[in-house]
Amino acid sequence: MSTSPRTQAINYVAFPNGEIAVSWADGHESYYPAHLLRCACACAHCVDEMSGRKTLRDEDVSQDVRPLEIHPVGRYAIAIKWSDGHDTGIYSFDQLRRLCPSESSPSESSPSESSRE
Ligand SMILES: [Zn+2]
Repeated sequence: MSTSPRTQAINYVAFPNGEIAVSWADGHESYYPAHLLRCACACAHCVDEMSGRKTLRDEDVSQDVRPLEIHPVGRYAIAIKWSDGHDTGIYSFDQLRRLCPSESSPSESSPSESSRE
């Protein structure tokens, strides 16, 4: 199994405002709003295992959700305990890198940004 620097997190930290920052081995830094990561949870409670369909509704997740604890899971993932009591979510570095807000949209800002908050 090859590990690309792109999907190798060398550091991660949760800020008091709930934002989660991840530093990658290739020098990139990702900043994830807590709500984004909580909604991206792929555990059996949030995604139907049979169909792979997401059962968690984004609107049911509080905008105030915060990461309480972040634990490493092996060398490939982190587990996040959330302030809404949810603690079964595991985020692989691979998934995190794909979720990176500053990479998923190469253009400066997403078109739907104006309607938020
Ligand atoms: Zn979940």
